[in-house]
Amino acid sequence: MSVKAPRGVNDILPPDSFKWQYIRRKAEEIFELYNYEEIILPIFEHTELFQRGIGETTDIVEKEMYTFEDKGGRSITLRPEGTASVMRAYLEHKIYGQSQPTKYFYFGPMFRYERPQAGRFRQFYQIGVEVLGVDNPAVDVEVILVGFQILDTLGLKDCKLYINSVGCPECRSAYREALKDYFKPHLEKLCSDCQRRFERNPMRMLDCKNEDCKRHMEKAPVILDYLCEDCASDFDKVKSYLDLVQIPYEVDPGLVRGLDYYTKTAFEVKYSKLGAQDTLFAGGRYDGLGEEIGGKRVPGIGFAMGMERLILALKYQNVELPINRNIDLFITTIGSKAEKEAFKYLNQLRRAGLKAAMDYMGRSVKGQMKMADRLNARYSIILGDEELDKGSATIRNMETGEQDEVKLSNLVEEMKKRVK
Ligand code: ATP
Ligand code: MG
Repeated sequence: MSVKAPRGVNDILPPDSFKWQYIRRKAEEIFELYNYEEIILPIFEHTELFQRGIGETTDIVEKEMYTFEDKGGRSITLRPEGTASVMRAYLEHKIYGQSQPTKYFYFGPMFRYERPQAGRFRQFYQIGVEVLGVDNPAVDVEVILVGFQILDTLGLKDCKLYINSVGCPECRSAYREALKDYFKPHLEKLCSDCQRRFERNPMRMLDCKNEDCKRHMEKAPVILDYLCEDCASDFDKVKSYLDLVQIPYEVDPGLVRGLDYYTKTAFEVKYSKLGAQDTLFAGGRYDGLGEEIGGKRVPGIGFAMGMERLILALKYQNVELPINRNIDLFITTIGSKAEKEAFKYLNQLRRAGLKAAMDYMGRSVKGQMKMADRLNARYSIILGDEELDKGSATIRNMETGEQDEVKLSNLVEEMKKRVK
């Protein structure tokens, strides 16, 4: 049997790749409106970056990373997400020394060893944004707005925003104790992951996907009752700015990112009809991350959006993206001399900026006409040995069927005019 792609990775073939290109371009247009600039990150990093930057007690670091030793004996990991790398780059290049804030976007593949299923893969693509160097909660809302504008521009509807505040290390220590008191009597009934989380990081229990555990989460104490003054007032500001720009939201006190360096705002945008994998984009504030990876304190907020899930949601809603795959003209040839000349004109026409094609498969005239149709050519240029001798070609408007003759010496200029 011939070699197949590994489980959980996808080939993105045309016409799907056209959708990817379209989404990427649209997202880039929106990033320009908001003044976000692209950061192009490495695909692999030192494993330590993710251990420290995502956290030892997360699913990602505990079981999902593609980690290997390189030939120099270093532990390397294929990036499972982008935020840690963005922060590393920001610190490494001392971007904090420039005028702030720093607003980045990125696009690219991420790698996680997960159980592949609808909307969940081992190599998947994220569009992400990160704003560093500013802790004003207005920026939290700006980040959410960028994400929504991408969904809106694509024509996705019914996406719902859930927000929460996970507080700061100070207000969280009291909350953690309250959680432990609550869970202690139920501990035996919870899954083994939760039992481990109970010791190491009880907030992560709220994020458990196990149905039995979820039931116990419903009555658990909520972080919002434990916020310090500063965290509470920032959360109020986030909500009031969301109201100001009329973005509906639901406060979900169970929405957590249970690591010390996640702070304050956490959010998720879901499209409920996608089933279990319903989160289109998710993010939050991570004011402690810079220190965690050995640098200074850098306030930051961002999100990551899953490309595959966007595409699934678009399919689900029957959104047809306005993708233009038409070509301007197709050169149909009759005879071998014409075939050779056509190749020369094809090159000139493309150099002049026209989308042009011809046949390389030795098709009959009829076959070439069919091909011109299939490619949605606006014009067909018919070039026969006979026309060549006269120094002219026939141009057929494929929509109206009208035909006329033009001088070959004039062909490129004439086609440029007609295609405009
Ligand atoms: P989930 O709860 O779905 O596992 P997560 O919390 O692990 O998501 P993040 O790390 O916040 O996800 O990633 C942001 C977004 O990236 C998700 O909302 C989703 O759209 C997408 N994503 C995450 N993991 C995968 C995956 N394995 N395959 C496809 N898309 C993914
Ligand atoms: Mg996950």
